[in-house]
Amino acid sequence: MDLEQIKSELLSSKAEIESRLERTHKHIYQKDEPVSANFSEQIKQTENDQLVRALEEEGLDELRHINNALQRLETGDYLRCSSCGGEIGEQRLSAIPFADQCIGCADSAS
Ligand SMILES: [Zn+2]
Repeated sequence: MDLEQIKSELLSSKAEIESRLERTHKHIYQKDEPVSANFSEQIKQTENDQLVRALEEEGLDELRHINNALQRLETGDYLRCSSCGGEIGEQRLSAIPFADQCIGCADSAS
């Protein structure tokens, strides 16, 4: 298992998520257009904002996972389950590069 490869993949998804979040953030907080006077327009806008906020939450969550995985790579804990200390397993990590639990622990947690 090539940890350097994993690290560069994690870093590139991190960069991708960060730029996505930046765009989302601008969309939410830097509105140029005045608030619409039309009520149904306003509703539509609010719904859209909620969706964008949900996407932002999702992105932040992903980012936390990735940062956590990068940290684990640094400390050499990447291959270890954070709950039981056993091997997470290559197959699982190649499917979910930021997994921090073995399949057994992840299953019993959910
Ligand atoms: Zn475990």
